[in-house]
Amino acid sequence: MSKIQMTTPIVEMDGDEMTRILWKMIKEHLLLPYIDLKTEYYDLGLKHRDETNDQVTVDSAIATKKYKVAVKCATITPNAARVKEYNLKEMWKSPNGTIRAILDGTVFRAPIVVKGIEPCVKNWKKPITIARHAYGDVYKGSEMKIPGAGKVELVYTAEDGTETRELVHNFTGSGIVQGMHNIDQSIESFARSCFNYALDTKQDLWFATKDTISKKYDHTFKDIFQEIFDADYKEKFEEAGIEYFYTLIDDAVARVMKSEGGYIWACKNYDGDVMSDMVSSAFGSLAMMTSVLVSPEGYYEYEAAHGTVQRHYYKHLKGEETSTNSVATIFAWTGALRKRGEMDGNQELMDFADKLEKATIDTIESGNMTKDLALITTLPNPTVLNSEDFIKAIAERL
Ligand code: NAP
Ligand code: MG
Repeated sequence: MSKIQMTTPIVEMDGDEMTRILWKMIKEHLLLPYIDLKTEYYDLGLKHRDETNDQVTVDSAIATKKYKVAVKCATITPNAARVKEYNLKEMWKSPNGTIRAILDGTVFRAPIVVKGIEPCVKNWKKPITIARHAYGDVYKGSEMKIPGAGKVELVYTAEDGTETRELVHNFTGSGIVQGMHNIDQSIESFARSCFNYALDTKQDLWFATKDTISKKYDHTFKDIFQEIFDADYKEKFEEAGIEYFYTLIDDAVARVMKSEGGYIWACKNYDGDVMSDMVSSAFGSLAMMTSVLVSPEGYYEYEAAHGTVQRHYYKHLKGEETSTNSVATIFAWTGALRKRGEMDGNQELMDFADKLEKATIDTIESGNMTKDLALITTLPNPTVLNSEDFIKAIAERL
């Protein structure tokens, strides 16, 4: 059998712990036998990040700007315990944070829906993709405790020294206050990433804020989305047969619960933080959640939404059998390969991505799965496979 050829490399970002083990197995059993895989390899494993003073993370993000498509394995974000464990020179920053800062993107998280793993919300039939704005609002807020009576104001001092003031509150006793901000350019990037991703995946886009209460702050989000939509996306959405839908956040929450899914839900930073955990847990499993960073310039970085599954890795190191779910990591690869195929006009590569996804889903639906899914499936008598046998079962079907 001749292998599928690639014309342009994908940026490959290797990672840590159990997911690094899965990464190697996925390549060996599911990719290399079928594809003449072209990647530009960056080892983001913590040891190598430390050796390169984290330059490798920066280099991998810069390479993503060059090749436009990347696939990333889960990586350790160091904390004090990790600094000790790996004898690190520094507590390096989160690689995802570093990459996102360089690519300026929005993260889209979507569940992989299979029969037998039923969402808690019974009418959800299709995935709901959450897009979270990852800048500002309460995450970059400044706060004060107000000890007693006094006046709190917002003060804007322009470069020429002129001041604009807005009363927050005349306190008669103690209380609290918070100031927060956002930047038009960041909201514009967020909007463009969302509109582009909706077109890419041919799904409707929902966006919601509390503009009736927050007439300047939230209203600006609403206005920026609408202006960009009208100027650059309205016709493209019509051609694609999809819709941009704006509503109030409380109305959106109610509609999401009653919907059957199949759309992208764009959320402000805080709403996205809260709602993405609700949506992902309601769909069944973090191990079945994919994540893609989409930049407004059209760079894509695919990964699993979960971490490095540390507990399983320590079992693996002790020589014990593990049953770690590789589905989200497989889908990170298929997402990247399909996008590479789309950009390069490589139909064979796109078809391969579809087939690998189908083989993965069919394997689970036939009752063969890892332990995490076996615990929650509605299918009778599932067969629990270990990490490698699950990947081999997919390979057989493929
Ligand atoms: P985690 O790796 O997501 O795992 C938490 C727990 O969820 C696991 O112990 C396991 O439960 C279950 N789980 C997650 N993924 C699974 C899978 N594929 N198959 C089966 N079970 C799965 O989170 P963590 O243990 O809190 O974090 C470990 C490391 O990952 C940390 O160093 C953190 O910095 C990093 N992290 C990286 C990313 C990223 O790179 N995007 C994201 C999040 C966290 P049981 O143990 O009960 O089986
Ligand atoms: Mg959260």
